[in-house]
Amino acid sequence: MRAIVVEEGRPTRLRDVPPSFVAPEQGGEGVVVDVEWSSLNYKDGMALGGDRGVVRTSPLVPGIDLVGVVRSVPSGTGDVPGSGGGTGTEVTVGDRVVVTGAGHGERRHGGYAEQAVVDPDSVVVLPDAMTSRRAAAIGTAGVTAMLSVLRLERDVAPGDGPVVVTGAAGGVGSVAIALLSRLGYSVTASSGRVDEQGDYLRRLGAADVIDRRELGEPGRPLQRARWAGAVDSVGSQTLASLLAQTRPGGVVTACGLAQGSDLPTTVLPFILRGIGLAGIDSVDAPPARRRRVWQRLASDLDFELLDSMTTEIALDDVIAAGPRVLEGRVRGRTVVRVNA
Ligand code: NDP
Repeated sequence: MRAIVVEEGRPTRLRDVPPSFVAPEQGGEGVVVDVEWSSLNYKDGMALGGDRGVVRTSPLVPGIDLVGVVRSVPSGTGDVPGSGGGTGTEVTVGDRVVVTGAGHGERRHGGYAEQAVVDPDSVVVLPDAMTSRRAAAIGTAGVTAMLSVLRLERDVAPGDGPVVVTGAAGGVGSVAIALLSRLGYSVTASSGRVDEQGDYLRRLGAADVIDRRELGEPGRPLQRARWAGAVDSVGSQTLASLLAQTRPGGVVTACGLAQGSDLPTTVLPFILRGIGLAGIDSVDAPPARRRRVWQRLASDLDFELLDSMTTEIALDDVIAAGPRVLEGRVRGRTVVRVNA
């Protein structure tokens, strides 16, 4: 089968490998999936470049997302407990499934190969109404956006005031805007590409678009309170500015580090305004939460908007596309046709 392989000391290549290449070395069995689609996330860009912050084992098939059809389940005879977290959902040969994160494309082989071996607990069986391509378009970025929305809506209601989304034209940002605006929030999109992507961001549902430089420069730890809440995928000074500009009792979710992994702030926003800073981790989400997230995505995401933010590439194009993600030149979501 064809697989992209990252190997220490060698250039990343698309190779022919036997299916056994992706089988776990020990503790052997898993659900074998014929991969139809993967996607291209920021983290995949890092992995394709051999970044050791993501590539934890060598050789590695990158690709943190995969969508496909179950070829076999452990023991080869029947079904296995799956995304129900012990509540009865089962994975059956022939099911269409999606797996995001769970270490794929980092510490175990991921979606850039025609077959993958996955843990039953990381599998979500797709609702009939969701095509495999759309599930890949959602991918880790969409799951992360939904996790951020779920956290935000615990403390911030649509009528509370504007919610700002940073890294707006990226994958997490685009899906977050589409979700929040459909749920009735007034969304401000913060982007470094206002001229180029302003119309796109408004089509997704942004009521306002601001230049990311407004948030990206150092400032006082407490500033005019503008936001009821924020979804941040950028980190660093931008995250510090969001904390400084959020209204008392508001919540800022933090999932990413596109600007940097530092956080140059003080405790003042927390102790004087009661701001909540909520970390979002999509990689190790437990099974019940994964299922809940996909249910909400199925009901709350406008699939036509999703299509409008999706670009399709072939497996052959992935290696060349990697650096473009890291340079912030990719818009919305990129799906990878693996074997569809
Ligand atoms: P994308 O590459 O699709 O989007 C990132 C966006 O960030 C860019 O489009 C750009 O938006 C903005 N950006 C890029 N560079 C800078 C910069 N130097 N300063 C400010 N803004 C910048 O990535 P994803 O949406 O897939 O991921 C976003 C981040 O979230 C990444 O750091 C990723 O690792 C992280 N992540 C974390 C997850 C988790 O579970 N915690 C899961 C998924 C992603 P614009 O052009 O509009 O300014």
